[in-house]
Amino acid sequence: MRKNVVIQFALATAAILLLVGYQFFGSAGGELAKIRIATGGSSGIYFAYGNALADMLEKRMNVPVTAIQSGGSVDNIRLLKDGRAEIAFVQNDIMTYAYNGTNFFSTEGEFKDFSAIAGIYAETCQVVARREISSISDLNGRRVSVGDEGSGTELNAIQILGAYGMSYADIDVDHLSFGASVSAFRDGKIDAFFCTAGVPTPAISQLAAEGEAHILSVGDAHARSLISRYPFYAQQVIPNGAYPGIDGEAETVAVKATLVASNKLSDQAVHQILKTLFDGKGEISKIVPQGDDLNRDTALEGIPIPLHPGAEKYFFEK
Ligand code: GLU
Repeated sequence: MRKNVVIQFALATAAILLLVGYQFFGSAGGELAKIRIATGGSSGIYFAYGNALADMLEKRMNVPVTAIQSGGSVDNIRLLKDGRAEIAFVQNDIMTYAYNGTNFFSTEGEFKDFSAIAGIYAETCQVVARREISSISDLNGRRVSVGDEGSGTELNAIQILGAYGMSYADIDVDHLSFGASVSAFRDGKIDAFFCTAGVPTPAISQLAAEGEAHILSVGDAHARSLISRYPFYAQQVIPNGAYPGIDGEAETVAVKATLVASNKLSDQAVHQILKTLFDGKGEISKIVPQGDDLNRDTALEGIPIPLHPGAEKYFFEK
């Protein structure tokens, strides 16, 4: 008798847990009872930001949340597609190409089973070079890291080189993460590297302080021609003082870091993720200064793909 009561209780508890799990994660299986956030390399901002977000979500939502390392935006889309992540950090240009199956994604085709949840900060296209290299055209014949395999940075490198009438045929190409680019630069193995990330990017700050590097400009005419072909770019100035050790400002272009979610994630889960993120702005800012850029009023700018219904509810409920 007593045993029966225990069994009944256990069954009832399991049913309740299953129901709660279903409402939150959109699946009755335990499979989605965790959140994996696809970020980037360990020396980038996505990874630090993603870890800060994971800590907050785990406390508030009471599910295991992990930040996954990757090559960057392109890899992150594939992690979502393969069901290996529920949330991802991606550049808004990469997100749109993936959705439409264009550019880097033209061979694999369109991927529609994900949606945007919020734009979070500007990512600046930074071309870091030895001081004797004074323009992007001067990269001709040099050894250059165009970003990690699977990064969004690489696409920006290809398009920026293109705006200067250049391609991979004109440089000696390396695929390195931001951290590996800095090490290779120090060791004299590369002369320049591309880095699309929030400013200041810690890896660049360390290098700048050593005095050997500066940031090349994507000048007004080139920036305009780039924007006319690829509308995701916006002109952006890296202000003087952003990197102690580098004097003067650099004109360049920027895209936008955007959080996206698998469409398998329920509306409630996405709503709670956004609430946690925006309410926790102060916590995020303690880890990455880009947390200060969280702004509900501008979070939906530069997002041409559908918004997750949970995000729609969050942004339009008030
Ligand atoms: N935007 C970069 C990329 O997708 C990654 C930036 C970061 O890791 O902070 O290539």
